[in-house]
Amino acid sequence: ASLFAHVEVAAPIEVFALTAKYNEDKFQDKVNLGVGAYRTDEGKPWVLPVVRQAEIQMANDATLNHEYLPVAGLPTYREAAARLLLGEGHKALVENRVEGVQTLGGTGAIRLAAEFLKQFLNKSVVYVSKPTWGNHKGIFKAAGYAKIEEYRYWDDANRCLNLSGMLEDLKGAPENAVVILHTCAHNPTGTDPTQDQWKEIIQVCQDKKIFMLMDCAYQGFASGDLDKDAFPVRYMAEQGIEFFVAQSFSKNFGLYNERIGNLAMITNNPDMKLRVRTQCELIVRKIWSNPSNHGARIVATVLNNQAYYEEWKQQVKTMANRIQLMRQLLYEKLRSLGTPGTWEHIIKQIGMFSFTGLSVRQVEHMINHHHIYLLKEGRINMCALTTKNVEYVANAINDSVK
Ligand code: PMP
Repeated sequence: ASLFAHVEVAAPIEVFALTAKYNEDKFQDKVNLGVGAYRTDEGKPWVLPVVRQAEIQMANDATLNHEYLPVAGLPTYREAAARLLLGEGHKALVENRVEGVQTLGGTGAIRLAAEFLKQFLNKSVVYVSKPTWGNHKGIFKAAGYAKIEEYRYWDDANRCLNLSGMLEDLKGAPENAVVILHTCAHNPTGTDPTQDQWKEIIQVCQDKKIFMLMDCAYQGFASGDLDKDAFPVRYMAEQGIEFFVAQSFSKNFGLYNERIGNLAMITNNPDMKLRVRTQCELIVRKIWSNPSNHGARIVATVLNNQAYYEEWKQQVKTMANRIQLMRQLLYEKLRSLGTPGTWEHIIKQIGMFSFTGLSVRQVEHMINHHHIYLLKEGRINMCALTTKNVEYVANAINDSVK
């Protein structure tokens, strides 16, 4: 008998299982609205032209090698990531109180934050939005948190933010709690607080001494404007609040498989930088020991070169605009079909995803009858829509709802 005979096959990870099912499907007009990655109007992945350019430059640069990076990552990358987040000349940067550690994607940044906060600030309770990205709870659970709680976020009846519920739940949280807030383009609802609402949320967290971990996986994807999308983070840093930001370049650089993230740590005093960074290095040493080079080098090459940076901003806009167009087209098709219900939320929501409001039963109908794959919660990836398939998808939604 095997030592592993008692190990049961694990439950499938929904989003990957969905893609496997999609790949097996032989139907010609099948659509995968599950996976969270950008697609062109041809339904293809997009290597950003500026990324390709940086890669060619790197390939021809004889001074580069494959030596280990520092444990905290590539310095030029970490600095550029903080500058992108806070904006050139931000008070917190000028005052030299921001540190960054390169991580394995946004996921690695969240895990590193969870470990650090547990070890040094004695945290054991985390609050996540209801609903949230499927991995938040698991990461904190894996880091040994005793309590994973939810704060209300989505108002299902009105298909908008439930601000009063959110504030009430945060006011009820214990003082030592950590809260994860999505900086922009909330996954999965596509619904963000307004700037005034942000100020209220931040004030409540401050009053309650709740530690804010900002999850910033979609800077530029929400509005197409990198500065506007960073509003809550820049506002908090101006107020002298101490907080962390888990940055990901998976989406806005299209570097999904390069696993490139950054844990930005905003402190209120330059003396804290060395302390937090060196302790993070010890944590990193024990989890992945050393970060990978390729993605960091690409992001640093682009962000530290004015001409490349301008090109990249345009390419982020291209992605954001295509998503916006797909929202408009889907909305118009549903309207012209007279699909029951209101669909304004499709055009009001922002970022990569739309929270359709389709029920589990309607989602099953979409998959089984129309070969259109989406998550049970009804989230769809707007980038998977194209001018060629949007009509097919609209007809299927119409049929599922009726
Ligand atoms: N946070 C949110 C809200 C996300 O949607 C994602 C990616 N799906 C991540 C973090 C993690 O991104 P990465 O792939 O860089 O680990």
